[in-house]
Amino acid sequence: MTATLERPRAEPMLDGEQSGTENFLVKLFAVVPLLALAAAVPIAWGWGLGWTDLGLALGFYLLTGLGVTIGFHRYFTHGAFKANRGLRIALAVAGSMAMQGPVIGWVADHRRHHAYADREGDPHSPWRYGTSAGALAKGFWHAHMGWLFDREKTNAKRFAPDLLDDADLARIDRLFPVLTVATLLTPALLGGLLTLSWTGALTAFFWAGLVRVAVLHHVTWSVNSLCHLIGDRPFAARDKSANFWPLALASMGESWHNSHHADPTGARHGVRRGQLDISARVIWVFEKLGWATDVRWPRPERLARKLARQ
Ligand SMILES: [Zn+2]
Ligand SMILES: [Zn+2]
Repeated sequence: MTATLERPRAEPMLDGEQSGTENFLVKLFAVVPLLALAAAVPIAWGWGLGWTDLGLALGFYLLTGLGVTIGFHRYFTHGAFKANRGLRIALAVAGSMAMQGPVIGWVADHRRHHAYADREGDPHSPWRYGTSAGALAKGFWHAHMGWLFDREKTNAKRFAPDLLDDADLARIDRLFPVLTVATLLTPALLGGLLTLSWTGALTAFFWAGLVRVAVLHHVTWSVNSLCHLIGDRPFAARDKSANFWPLALASMGESWHNSHHADPTGARHGVRRGQLDISARVIWVFEKLGWATDVRWPRPERLARKLARQ
């Protein structure tokens, strides 16, 4: 760990603005691979990609994405609501199928992120190496996916003892390899059955299995990288978290990340009018169904206080 992450509490939240070069590099890394993927879609349409693949990909993206945003993140990490046992287990399984690691390790890493956000001890801060263009390029890579290759493991006994104590969750955590196989093979099975062909199974495996997992990976990782680099910072926070609107839809509300760091236990991250947050809407449905209770909806007075303090 380098010393650049250490800073006294009295330091201001922001450290100037990114230079034009820095800002350009961040955008380049974020956008170019995504454009390449978007270009592959029309090229493959009609022979290696069809409506069945697209429908399955979207369905599994929603299922596993919400498993992470509602389950792993808002519920297990932050306790934004209470869930009945069935919902609790379903959320753990759906989130595990996002292939972002077993539930207990995911939660431990993320609680550690909030405890040390953008300071020494944060598992994935883009500011780790400093603020020059080179340091930020390196930091972006580290925060986005490089940190996953670090060998150090967050101590779950310290950061997620509540989950370790739950026998059902410990079992789902251990079943992660099985759920990984299931998340790749289920779309293939459905694709094969829906089209009654091996080709259908293969293309569904590719688009609704592999590509869907890869896209969700990058969207989740972008919350760690981009949403600590660029965007608006309406709320006072001790870190550099930011609200990055272009990712609101794909991240299902998680890119309102500055608002999230300001009020981590809130069930809704898009706290202001017009801020799209699909995850919050689905939690609202769970509440209406009686599956979720004690939902921590944002309180206007509290938010106003956070805004005013800045
Ligand atoms: Zn964060
Ligand atoms: Zn969080």
